[in-house]
Formats: sequence, structure tokens, C-alpha cells
Amino acid sequence: MTPRGWAVLTLAALVLALVVLGALLVPWSRPPAPRADQLAALRDLPADQVARGRALQAALRPGRYTGLAVGLLVALLLGLTPLGARLVELAGRPFGDHWIARAVLGGIAVVLVADLLTLPFAAWRQSVLTRYGLATQGWGGWTVDLLKSYALSAVLAATVLLGFYTVTRLAPRWWWAFGAAGAAGLVVLLSFVLPVLVEPVFNRFTPMEQGPLRTELTALAARDGVPVRDVLVADASRRTRAVNAYVSGLGPTRRVVVYDTLLREATPAEVTSVVAHELGHAKDRDVWTGTLTGALGAAAAVVALYLVGSWTPLLRRAGVDSIAEPRAFALLIALVTVVGLVAGPVQALVSRRVEARADAHALALTGDPATFEAMQRRLAGVNLADPDPPRAEYLWFASHPSTVERMAAARAYAREAGR
Ligand SMILES: [Zn+2]
Repeated sequence: MTPRGWAVLTLAALVLALVVLGALLVPWSRPPAPRADQLAALRDLPADQVARGRALQAALRPGRYTGLAVGLLVALLLGLTPLGARLVELAGRPFGDHWIARAVLGGIAVVLVADLLTLPFAAWRQSVLTRYGLATQGWGGWTVDLLKSYALSAVLAATVLLGFYTVTRLAPRWWWAFGAAGAAGLVVLLSFVLPVLVEPVFNRFTPMEQGPLRTELTALAARDGVPVRDVLVADASRRTRAVNAYVSGLGPTRRVVVYDTLLREATPAEVTSVVAHELGHAKDRDVWTGTLTGALGAAAAVVALYLVGSWTPLLRRAGVDSIAEPRAFALLIALVTVVGLVAGPVQALVSRRVEARADAHALALTGDPATFEAMQRRLAGVNLADPDPPRAEYLWFASHPSTVERMAAARAYAREAGR
């Protein structure tokens, strides 16, 4: 069989594995709480809170969609015309057109052009968040964060680009196989290593002071069978008013991280409710599931790129001879962007189901639906969310159930438990 035949077979196997994993690991069976309960929850929210959340979302909307459209347009323009190939050539010229310069500098140039052209929309978003009092950072801090994330992405991109184009040079016929394995490995590495490396770049963490809340959270985790080594507080308030908490690390390094904003805004019982949700993710191994499906998806994407990338009309359009050369990087990015756009709603759907399961876990663990519901109200109020967003936007973007869905779930739990 030819490498191409093997690629078709591998892609079929990967897609099948993804479908089976999705069917087995995603909690499909639990439907959202009845719409009537959701509407009742919506009516119980203060009208001015709902209006303020909707006003912010309406103010963010034009920038979000224009930014998305510009990003897509730039990717297509660079990838489906010879412009992208020319940009890569340009980046390599000062270095005698050496392939490493083209691969690394050219690749970064392609990504940077798209980033810079969508930068105004990111700044505009920040200005809206500041106007609504949600962002607390000021432009200096925002710029520093932006530069930090550019620097991190550049280092990561350079490593990936160099690795990828070394493989396409060494194995011109079989690079897709090595590339698929490499992409899968990278996803695993990033999901376990990156948080540990990246978190301290953006935030400072201090152990939560000894007291009833710390004792309660540690005991809650132990009772849940997911013991944590430490409870940390992140200084998120220097950036945002939004509240959050998460569990990171695995096994002996597992720790609960609580935003300082959450401690300031919420009651201890509400903090416990949020942490119980996060423990649900740890207990159900949601990070493992996400990593595994991400790794299979990345491997499938590389094989699919190889197959689509051998289509001559596409290559001619981009002015390149092969998808495996650095000059074709913009074409690669264009294809990835389009796939990402299509995969977005699927990822959002899976994420909402997983989040709903963590909510159910929190309700069962705390047995306190009233506090859970109060926390959802507060989350929506502080984060200025639309508690019941427009259907299309919800389906396309929402990674979590809506506020009214989560409140309704708490009410359904209370009914069933007779509380
Ligand atoms: Zn969650």
C-alpha cells in the first residue's frame, strides 16, 4: 500500500476512535433542565442585572464578529493566494533563503500578521470591559500581558515549526505519520506541562490562610476522594473583577486554585460550591478525557492536512509545490482555521455536557442546591454574563450551560432530593 493509502486508513481509524470515545466518555444522557424551569429562573433574576449583562454582551458583539471575520479573511487571503508564500520567502531572504529561517521566521511572520490585524479588536474588547468595570488592569498591564503571551507563543511556535519542517524534510513521504504522533504528543505535553509553566507568568499564587474555609475545602476534597496538596489564592484582581476557581495538577501535585476576587465577592459556602464543581472535573478525569480527544483530534488533523494538501488545484492557488514546504505554511493555517471554525460548535457542545456533569457533582457533593443557585446568580452578576444568551450564540460559543440552565438544574436537584 502507498503512504497515501495508509494515511486514508489511519484517518479512518482516528475518526472512529474519536467517535467511540465521544460516545462513551461524554455524558450525553443527561438533558438540560426543562425550559419552563429555566424561564422561571430568569424571572427570578433582578431585571437590572439581566439588562446590564445583556448590554455588555451587545457592546462586545460587533467587535467579536468583525474580529472573527477579519481573522478568517486574513487566513484565507494569505493561504489561498501566493501572498502567504511570498511572506515566508521574505522572512527567509536575509538568511540566504535557508529553510530553517523560512520555517521558523516565515511561520511566525504569518501568525504575527494575523495577530496584528486582529489586535484592534482585542483592544476594543478590553476598552468595553474597562467601561463596564470588568477589566481592572489599565493599558500598561494589558500591553505587558499581551507581550508576554506573544513571547510565549513565539517560543512555542518556533519549536513546533522547526520540529515539523525537520520531519517533512527527513521523511517526505511519511511525514504525516510522524507529524500525527508528534501533534498528539504535543497536546499531551501542553495540557500537563503548560499550565504549570504558564500560570506563574501571569499570576502570583499564595497559600490560602489557615481558617475555617481552608479546612472546609481540604476536607471536601478528601471526602470526594480527590485529595489536594494545597489550596492557593491567585491574584486575579490585578487584571479582572471576574470570579473563578479551578483544580490543576494530577495526583500528588493536585491543588485547588481560588481567585482572590471570588473570596472577596462570594460567601464561604458559595466558594465551597464552586470548588465542589471543580472537584467534579478532577473526579471524572475531564482533563484526561479532554487531552485524549485533543490528541486524537490533532493527529487526525495532521493526516487530513496531508491528504487535502496533496490536492493540486489548492497548491497551485497558494503558489506552492507541496503542503510540506515552509512556503505552504499560510495554506496550512488557512485550512486549520476553517476546520477550527467548523469544530468550534462541536467542542462547545461537548464542553457544556461535561460542565453540566460537574454541576451535578457539586450539587450531590454539597447537597446544597440553594447555595449553588445563589452562586450562579452571583457569577452571572459579577461576570456580567447574559443569563439566557441568544440560541445561535449559545450553540456556537458557549462552553458552559447558561446561568438559567444551571439555576434550573439546581431546582431540579432540590425537587428530586426533596430539599
Ligand atoms: Zn467547570
